Amino acid sequence: MRLVLLGPPGAGKGTQAKRLAERHQVPHLSTGDILRFEVKAATELGRQVESKMSAGELIDDDIMSSVVANRLAQPDTMNGFILDGYPRTIRQAIALEEALRSQSLTAVVELMVDEEELFARIEARAKEAGTAGEDARADDTSAILRKRLVAFGRETRALSAFYESCGLLIKVDGQASAEEIAATIADHLVEALVRQRSAMPRKGE
Ligand code: AMP
Repeated sequence: MRLVLLGPPGAGKGTQAKRLAERHQVPHLSTGDILRFEVKAATELGRQVESKMSAGELIDDDIMSSVVANRLAQPDTMNGFILDGYPRTIRQAIALEEALRSQSLTAVVELMVDEEELFARIEARAKEAGTAGEDARADDTSAILRKRLVAFGRETRALSAFYESCGLLIKVDGQASAEEIAATIADHLVEALVRQRSAMPRKGE
């Protein structure tokens, strides 16, 4: 199972990615989580990306593509992965194809949510972190969300058409409950797997 989750910030990619990773027993690769870990550990990479992340800007494609290529070279991704937050630009999508070599993606799931709902979710996420005594993410504010949505519109939205043209895109209503969304994704994935298997050449063909 090699999946990519697409959608704006607050669309619920992380929630669905976790469920999918458990269900299919493959790692959940969140590039946001990888970068937040590096920032917290004050590594060279963390120092390089910190200010852009907290300003809601995208990190350079070359940096991101090398982070992901290194992660995909780890043996735990041999049976697949759930990518959450990557690719976010067409250049990253092309770099992903290169990193995967001859393997193809199983599908790309796009979660669709209106902007009003995204603002409500990001505010709720920041409040929940506060109630749990955790630090809220520096980029979980309305002002930064606005910037992240601009970056999404400028760079990431085009990926939907890109993956649709490859026949990989599954569009899902991201405003249903987490359970309903998970069930819809599961149904679509069965169809995607059947389609891929029937497109595979059989032995002797
Ligand atoms: P996320 O947790 O996916 O919302 O990512 C948080 C932040 O990390 C983003 O706003 C970007 O600054 C950075 N980031 C994560 N993934 C990428 C990516 N694929 N390309 C560029 N920047 C990224």
